[in-house]
Amino acid sequence: MVELVDQKKPTIVVSRCLGFCKCRYNGDVLTSPFVEALKPHVNYVTACPEVEIGLGVPRNPVRLVNRAGAIELYQPAEERTFTEEMNRYSVQFFDSVGTIHGLILKGRSPSCGIKDVKVYASTEKSSSSQKGVGIFAAHAIARYPNLPIEEEGRLTNYAIREHFLTKLYAMFRFQAVKESCSMKELVRFHSEYKFLLMAYHQMQLRLLGKIVANQECRKPEEVFALYEEHLGLALSRPPSKSNFINAFLHIFGYFSDTLSEKEKSFLLDRLQKYREDKVHISAIQNVMRAYAIQRNLDYLLNQAIWSPYPEELLDISDSGR
Ligand code: SF4
Repeated sequence: MVELVDQKKPTIVVSRCLGFCKCRYNGDVLTSPFVEALKPHVNYVTACPEVEIGLGVPRNPVRLVNRAGAIELYQPAEERTFTEEMNRYSVQFFDSVGTIHGLILKGRSPSCGIKDVKVYASTEKSSSSQKGVGIFAAHAIARYPNLPIEEEGRLTNYAIREHFLTKLYAMFRFQAVKESCSMKELVRFHSEYKFLLMAYHQMQLRLLGKIVANQECRKPEEVFALYEEHLGLALSRPPSKSNFINAFLHIFGYFSDTLSEKEKSFLLDRLQKYREDKVHISAIQNVMRAYAIQRNLDYLLNQAIWSPYPEELLDISDSGR
């Protein structure tokens, strides 16, 4: 658990072996440059479910096995099953963790892996026949359908990392608005996220607009719960490049009449190069933002699409995975 939560930063649950403790089955600790880079910007709550259920370090490895259709956590060397202990611990952990905004878990672990974890066909010597989800991770996914949950290995990919950070900070900012229970703040949040949501999911953007307008006169708590659910859906997948271009063209409409022909053709050329993967999205963001600054377009300047997360976290390196 975190000892002191800085309310100005998002809180992330992280697998403890990712740089915090030598708690892997063989006594190792792993390094994740992304987890490290995030340290000054977030509150981390670490968890090592296998240690917490008493397996100790070092320990004989555990694995997922399919026993007559039920997925169990099994330790072949001791011929013991730990499914119940892991389920109990996971429920207790998430019951007591408080407000969190995202999770970064260790990939391929039978406890922490969020996808593609080997599932063995039986407790006898057998090869893995299917892929599944670690037991602790499955509890996280069921409990937090709207939060970003990723594996450390996938976060070496630029697009996945960008999406994770965008969703993390959107959910963190939304949480503060939800806690205020102020409809005025919700309107402001929705207005500032308009173009980012347009890039992510136009249909959900329209639905979110209707939820905020609240013509059904729902109670504020119901409005916030509904908005949170649809915000999660809107941000469930990374946006396509063409949707981003569409959002930029809408922004372009705010000042296109004030641009010279040369300025217009420069901007349209940047958009085309972005479409062709020849320039990074920040090249478009910077040019458009500069135009909005010159014209004092405060509505545009307050948009989350320019910097959905702290700029210090921008790292365009990509493992290519
Ligand atoms: S993957 Fe999860 S259970 Fe395994 S060592 Fe890391 S934190 Fe512990």
